[in-house]
Amino acid sequence: MKAKKSLGQNFLIDKNIIDKIENSINATENDLIIEIGPGMGALTKVLKQKNANLICYEIDHDMIPYLKVLEDEKTKIIFNDILLSNIKEDIKNINYNNLFIVGNLPYYITTPIIRFLIDLKLDIKEMLFMVQEEVADRFTALPGTKEYGSITLYLKYYFNIEKLFRVSKNCFKPVPKVESAIIRFEKRERLPQTNEEKYFKLIVDSFKMKRKTLKNNLSGYNFDKIKKILVEFNLSESVRAEELDEKVFVAISNNI
Ligand code: SAM
Repeated sequence: MKAKKSLGQNFLIDKNIIDKIENSINATENDLIIEIGPGMGALTKVLKQKNANLICYEIDHDMIPYLKVLEDEKTKIIFNDILLSNIKEDIKNINYNNLFIVGNLPYYITTPIIRFLIDLKLDIKEMLFMVQEEVADRFTALPGTKEYGSITLYLKYYFNIEKLFRVSKNCFKPVPKVESAIIRFEKRERLPQTNEEKYFKLIVDSFKMKRKTLKNNLSGYNFDKIKKILVEFNLSESVRAEELDEKVFVAISNNI
């Protein structure tokens, strides 16, 4: 089987990593696991051992011979683009306690997939993904680091995100150009936000130009109100967005 670069196909071949991923997923038999991009089934086979309900979305029909044989009454493979799938419809007849989403993701659409899943507003308990290490670092970045940005805060709004472990490029076939990491997203308590849309717009606007100050990036806003919040947090008027933690953005968003 020749891997298709255009579909982000890098197959996991390291048994230790596959087992480590399996051990990091806390699903039990009354849960539902959705796997994105099962490929030749490296993860699917170990996920099946959990005996949970399992639904996998694979875009590449050439994987049919590898995946069809894994189907049974609790495992279903859907050959479709995840981004065009009607997940709600596909899972509506399944009774389950908790929803887990898992995948060694196709890296060319990592963020679109995660945004797509968030927009579905499913009640997701945990997501566990293999992503490019650089992306893992952005998703889990702390204020004051160069990786910290609007995507960090956007994801943090919904989940506590943790980088579990690095995965060497030699664990895949073909060997990709980049190193990888496993990250876990855990559902968190909702933030005391008044307006989700306003909060997300504020975040995107604040980080618009990396080198500019918050004040410059938010030139379209009433900065007097924002200044008051900055003073409350002992921050200078010339701070940059990457220096501010979530609490400050929440306070600003709720007061403009
Ligand atoms: N899970 C396998 C493994 O770990 O060896 C394969 C992982 S490979 C990095 C990504 C998989 O996602 C490929 O099988 C690819 O065909 C599939 N894929 C790519 N784009 C997809 C999409 N839009 N929807 C569903 N699957 C997709």
